[in-house]
Amino acid sequence: MSSTPAVAASSEVVGADGVRQPGGEVHAWLPGQNQTVCGLPLSRTRLRRFPHVPFDYASTDVLTQADPVGFICPRCLAATQGRRRQERSWVRQSPRP
Ligand SMILES: [Zn+2]
Repeated sequence: MSSTPAVAASSEVVGADGVRQPGGEVHAWLPGQNQTVCGLPLSRTRLRRFPHVPFDYASTDVLTQADPVGFICPRCLAATQGRRRQERSWVRQSPRP
């Protein structure tokens, strides 16, 4: 598969630059498909599409109160990270406290 996963989200916010950004619950979505990577139909769940926003989240991401994103779908995370790990192998080094 050559297409990069984009974002589908339950709500949206408009940034200072006027570009729509995803908010609420975010899923990975492959442009051209009518469902998310985890299998939710976009039309029935009313998820908005953000073809200009790559799904670039990691399970280590920390969401803050100021962040418009409240929930990142773990199934979409797992699906996209598995793919990313195949492209470039990296080893996460746990920093010592
Ligand atoms: Zn999902």
